Amino acid sequence: MNFGGVDFDTYLKNYPDSEGYYGKYGGAYISKELYDAMKEITEAYFTICKSSKFISELRKIRREFQGRPTPISYLERLSGTIGNVQIYVKREDLNHTGAHKLNHCMGEALLAKYMGKKKVIAETGAGQHGVALATAAAYFGLECDIYMGAVDIKKQAPNVARMKILGANVIEVTEGLQTLKEAVDAAFLAYSKEYKDAIYCIGSVVGPHPFPMMVRDFQSVVGIEAREQFLSMTGELPDAVVACVGGGSNAMGMFSGFLNDPVDIYGIEPLGRGATLGDHAASLQYGSEGIMHGFNSIMLKDENGDPAPVYSVASGLDYPSSGPEHAFLHDLGRVKYDAIGDEETIDAFFTLSRLEGIIPAIESSHAVAYAIKLAKEMSHGSILVCLSGRGDKDMDYIIENYGIR
Ligand SMILES: *Cc1c(COP(=O)(O)O)cnc(C)c1O
Repeated sequence: MNFGGVDFDTYLKNYPDSEGYYGKYGGAYISKELYDAMKEITEAYFTICKSSKFISELRKIRREFQGRPTPISYLERLSGTIGNVQIYVKREDLNHTGAHKLNHCMGEALLAKYMGKKKVIAETGAGQHGVALATAAAYFGLECDIYMGAVDIKKQAPNVARMKILGANVIEVTEGLQTLKEAVDAAFLAYSKEYKDAIYCIGSVVGPHPFPMMVRDFQSVVGIEAREQFLSMTGELPDAVVACVGGGSNAMGMFSGFLNDPVDIYGIEPLGRGATLGDHAASLQYGSEGIMHGFNSIMLKDENGDPAPVYSVASGLDYPSSGPEHAFLHDLGRVKYDAIGDEETIDAFFTLSRLEGIIPAIESSHAVAYAIKLAKEMSHGSILVCLSGRGDKDMDYIIENYGIR
């Protein structure tokens, strides 16, 4: 299949190029020291992760520890209330720790073990990535340093407790606004000093090369499983595939299975309170080209060209940019990006819970809300949604701020 001059038969092999570019997006805009460290990871990735020993060990872990393959569920009652469109969900909420993030954390930590590293380092905002990485570190017997802004530590007490129970060191960052951006800077700084013994583990398809590629490849298990399962359940491919996009890892994992198929693909960003800068985090909708956190992509900027403040009810989606591959697929027109606001998201959270007995993560509820909207516009056909995680973590916040609907 050809799209915007790109041949999708060979897409996953040809993108990114050897410098980590997807068209003009991606790359590695970092200090010489970090560049050398990234090069070491890239080389290790291409030798170790492509070896049959690594692949079979990761497969065994996915099966026996993570609980993969996760199923696809047909949403009979939800579909029935809308009309003639059949809606299905890929159940990443049933992956161990309750979301897709463990897919790439287990891959990254297994790579760390093969490279002989003793420690994994990362930042976390809401704490979801920190918990997934702390889980992987405990499994492999690696030390784990998680950098977290002081403000986030106060807000995310349960996840801080989880990380500590799992044996991770949660390191409080007190610079600047004391949230995710400062935590990223602190984690990178620590890594540049410790990279002989440690490896940095990013939380999405973002950051300098090779992370967007590595995380996509580890997450591609979602799309590969889903395509096979959907075909065997229905005998056909879905007409549309939908996933929410923060940094974009669950979406890239899901999409990578369907890029070369005659399937409409939708990436859904958070529109928060509305289209005013500062009220949303829909970077691909409203942003422009720029470099942050070591990569070139489409981002939301303030008047000085710095990353703009962003907002979403979903703390896993409030990032002022998206992975470089999403920027590329956006420009090519292969994936259609749209945005869903807080209100529709909260409605979808309750709708899925009430009609199907599945409490979705507030992030995933954005994709569910879009699928409901899309199903109302389509006269027939099928939609497959990536249900990236479960919503237990969001229940208290939603009841406190929105009540029971
Ligand atoms: C972190 C998170 C996301 C957003 O991350 P992506 O890299 O965009 O996938 C989405 N859903 C859940 C449940 C998350 O925890």
